Amino acid sequence: MTESTKDDHKALKTRTKLVYAGRRPSEQFGFVNTPVYRGSTVLFPSYHDLVTRNAPFTYGTSGSPTTKALTDAWTELCGAAGAALAPTGLAAITLALLTAVKAGDHILVTDSIYRPSRIFCDGVLARLGVETAYFDPLIGAGIEQLIRPNTSVIFLETPGSQSFELPDVPAIFAIARAKGICAILDNTWATPLFFPPHERGADMAIEAGTKYLSGHSDLLLGLISATAEWLPRLSATADAFAMCPGPEDVFLALRGLRTLELRLREAQAQGLAMARWLEGRPEIAAVLHPALPSCPGHALWKRDFYGSTGLFSVLLNPFPQKAVAAMLDGLELFGMGFSWGGFESLVIPFDCRAYRTATPWSPPGPALRFNIGLEDVEDLKADLERGFERLRAAS
Ligand SMILES: *Cc1c(COP(=O)(O)O)cnc(C)c1O
Repeated sequence: MTESTKDDHKALKTRTKLVYAGRRPSEQFGFVNTPVYRGSTVLFPSYHDLVTRNAPFTYGTSGSPTTKALTDAWTELCGAAGAALAPTGLAAITLALLTAVKAGDHILVTDSIYRPSRIFCDGVLARLGVETAYFDPLIGAGIEQLIRPNTSVIFLETPGSQSFELPDVPAIFAIARAKGICAILDNTWATPLFFPPHERGADMAIEAGTKYLSGHSDLLLGLISATAEWLPRLSATADAFAMCPGPEDVFLALRGLRTLELRLREAQAQGLAMARWLEGRPEIAAVLHPALPSCPGHALWKRDFYGSTGLFSVLLNPFPQKAVAAMLDGLELFGMGFSWGGFESLVIPFDCRAYRTATPWSPPGPALRFNIGLEDVEDLKADLERGFERLRAAS
């Protein structure tokens, strides 16, 4: 194997990139993978090298061969100029926002944003003198009317990871670009494989590596990719905060990266099989899965995405809460818990009414979010079939 340069890689297809990106066996005595480098102190060979910081790595907080392998690979997959890491997805979000804002700014955030992002904006950013305004995720080019002279960020997530609304990302980010506003995207659902964030106009894109990059529900990690324009500020902010992930987690993310494409393709097939089956159930009013033609965001999904993943929601017909509890409590294969993107199926109830402020959320009945894992879908259907019996019996 010859170690190709970054420019050579540009011509490769994504699957091939996933195999080669970030790997330098010649620097690791020929071993295929970059190992876990644990370390704080890095020794310099001479006084001169120390005072001029003349070394590829200078201290644990500013990176190691393990972290460099992941940021190099992620940069390549995202089509970015560079990337930074954070210990969790939420830490990546806060780092990106703090890279772009200053006291006195106004920022625009989609009403369907991941809820902890909202808590950060309404709490910490408000305390630092940054005002957040939420907008209808379907606003499209209408975003222009909400921009003020001090608007510094437009923050999107596509699709919203509970309500599954799809904003028109290219339209909204084109306006951000024209006005010199930083365009930030939470791209966790699609990953760069199914939604190339910077091609679609993002200045900084966030991935909760906790989800599909891990794929095994066994690590927490955040990644931020940036354009050449934003990379220097992102890197400086990341260095200042020194929110470094541990090397074991970075290693596991690199391991996950090699199989990301095949796991996502399977998540897509499994998710669609279950979503189509659920669409035909009498207990269900709507399935919110962008790859289904019945989903309101379907046209944008078709235009902008290369695939769908295994996370989607359903709106049930009116059923009492106790019936939903009876349905979920008896499930044998679906676990109940937060996060997603792992190999195991999950279900959670959710209610956006509790926190949405810009747009009303009025489902006909209770709402559920599914993460479809790698189990046989016939077993999953049978588990839910028994769940629906309990739902009806307890109503
Ligand atoms: C889970 C999630 C995050 C945060 O990731 P953590 O690693 O759990 O902090 C951010 N955005 C979205 C869309 C998520 O689903």
